[in-house]
Amino acid sequence: MRGSFRLGRIAGIEIGIHYTWLLALVIFTWLFEQTFFVTYPGWETYLYWVTGFLATFTLFVSVLVHELAHSLVAKARGLPVSSITLFILGGVSNLSEEPQSPGVEFVMAIVGPLTSLALGIIFWVWWYFLAKTWVLPVFSMNVPSARQTIALAVIGFLAYSNIALTIFNLLPGFPLDGGRVFRSILWHATHNLMKATKIAATVGRIFGWGLMALGVWFALFMPGGFVNGILYIFVGWFLNSAADNSRNEVTLREHLTGVLVGQVMEKDIESVQPETTISDVVQKYFIQKRKRAIPITEGDNLAGVITISDVKGISQDRWPTTPVSQVMHREPIHAVKPEDDLNAAMKLIAQYDLNQIPVLNQGKLVGILTRADVINYLQLSQELNIKGKQKANPTGTKIKL
Ligand SMILES: [Zn+2]
Repeated sequence: MRGSFRLGRIAGIEIGIHYTWLLALVIFTWLFEQTFFVTYPGWETYLYWVTGFLATFTLFVSVLVHELAHSLVAKARGLPVSSITLFILGGVSNLSEEPQSPGVEFVMAIVGPLTSLALGIIFWVWWYFLAKTWVLPVFSMNVPSARQTIALAVIGFLAYSNIALTIFNLLPGFPLDGGRVFRSILWHATHNLMKATKIAATVGRIFGWGLMALGVWFALFMPGGFVNGILYIFVGWFLNSAADNSRNEVTLREHLTGVLVGQVMEKDIESVQPETTISDVVQKYFIQKRKRAIPITEGDNLAGVITISDVKGISQDRWPTTPVSQVMHREPIHAVKPEDDLNAAMKLIAQYDLNQIPVLNQGKLVGILTRADVINYLQLSQELNIKGKQKANPTGTKIKL
């Protein structure tokens, strides 16, 4: 996730924190400080703040444990997990691949809420025993200390919030865990991941709208419900747009599946020799032809690519004398083949944030595929209603149930 910093590694998975999480730490500390003030009257003021902070911090640790459960199951099923990022609304596990079968998706999704449920039960049992030893002897004149009171408040809060987290995550609104469970069942029933995603995402959007409506109602008509109402609207909006994104992604994939790179790429490409100067490239290609990148060839073979950003680092008085071979990208150049499908190309373009990708046929440069080419193709295919060839399983692997 952009705008996040690294915290460390757990079981080979990088743990990151998005800057919005710091904001959440402040907002939730304040919210919980208020809640504890109402629930436990008569403490000294600073104790509410300490408790609020401890509650927020341990809640985020609970969320991290929930995400780790997803990630560890994913890893055990052979899906690479690069990182977990904590942000304002919880955590996300960053998977570079989708699960290959409904069964894998089901287990990966359900393990999160199950972990939260287990945590909730553990905290509840812990709270129960502490309360029994510390609070019940009150009748024998044993008043719990401030530290004991805080511990009870935080542990009780963790029991409650982990159960709440379980219930919330089990709502069948995609991309929540419950929505993923729902999608895996639809996928199993229809043998069609795209269809299943579309249905699950539609249900997810309805949940998002519902949550926002509930939030408006809370904020306007419930006495003291303003803050909760705003929170519901925010979460509903987030769910709605996440579901919308997944649906768009699937629609995109549907249009691109089965369409070959060779059908869409630019064929009459211009390239330059390694000894061409930067001045020439800037003048002839970047300025006059509005290119953002030019391939460099030796004979028919691709030697590298020079882009506008490569040139930025070189001072202008050196442009007329510096050959492009000195600043071009050699390795690693991500390339596709003419017979690859557009989905594979788009995945590379998105993953490495490229504007264009060279198309190679046995090492020879035969074309270039730009983001703009793909967008043009998409617009045209929608206008003319051209659909990509449907594959039974777009991930390209055999479905195992
Ligand atoms: Zn989850």
